[in-house]
Amino acid sequence: MTVMDQVYQEHRAPASPGHPRILSLANQKGGVGKTTTAINLGTALAAIGERVLIVDLDPQGNASTGLGIDRHSRNVSTYDVLIGEAPLRDAVVATAVPRLQIAASTMDLSGLELELGSTRDRAFRLRNAITALNIDATEATDYTYVLIDCPPSLNLLTVNAMAASDAILVPLQCEFFALEGLSQLLQTVEQVRSTLNPKLSIHGIVLTMFDSRNNLSNQVVADVRQFMGSKVYNTMIPRNVRISEAPSYGKPVLVYDLKCVGSEAYLKLATEVIERERTLRAH
Ligand code: ADP
Ligand code: MG
Repeated sequence: MTVMDQVYQEHRAPASPGHPRILSLANQKGGVGKTTTAINLGTALAAIGERVLIVDLDPQGNASTGLGIDRHSRNVSTYDVLIGEAPLRDAVVATAVPRLQIAASTMDLSGLELELGSTRDRAFRLRNAITALNIDATEATDYTYVLIDCPPSLNLLTVNAMAASDAILVPLQCEFFALEGLSQLLQTVEQVRSTLNPKLSIHGIVLTMFDSRNNLSNQVVADVRQFMGSKVYNTMIPRNVRISEAPSYGKPVLVYDLKCVGSEAYLKLATEVIERERTLRAH
């Protein structure tokens, strides 16, 4: 039995009905844990029975690399999809994790904004691609969650992600400037909501790289919880060396070391995300 089968046996939850839920990992700051969370929340959701697609919208392609997708298997990428040369279905590749697939990215994506110019539908490229995927959903592409890994900026790629999403999930690093930039991000969400996507909401804020021995980390947690209240998930992701080692093996941390505190935290976060989804749906 593989580790993923083991998690499935232990934590299996009924797959979420009414699909897919589309969540963007967004924060214009780099290095806060967007990609790490896309990979590991995606893996944890898949491990407990959800069917997950990660869409890599960062030209750096770290989510793709971190999941072991080498450059040669990116014949069709999210760039081809957004430029209109391929359906999203063609960019999807399997990962080593059952029920987890990814649409990989390449550096070409960095030129997209210029290439699209002022095309009328430029902000809706991703939304249209996901809609087309859903309409033609086969058993293999019948996802319950789509997680979009955004680049570290509020550019056209991030706007495409926000226009396509039900909600935004914001990773915040537990460091001194954590809240800096958050109001600008929230403002952008507000703008997208009032112009491109009225249903867009903030799913939650996840505190990352938390170090309980560090007073500053604890102070940041207190500040963020005071400022953002119940939007902050109870689960915090600890700073954990296993989390940072895993990508160099092309593996999610849950596969690299299921029993480490990082894996446990991402499993807990997945449960909390699903729980929050249920509450949202009930209202
Ligand atoms: P972003 O996508 O927001 O730019 P990443 O997810 O790539 O951020 O994370 C930035 C760096 O921090 C990466 O090297 C990653 O491995 C590391 N990292 C992320 N989360 C953790 C964590 N909880 N513990 C230790 N290292 C982490
Ligand atoms: Mg990233």
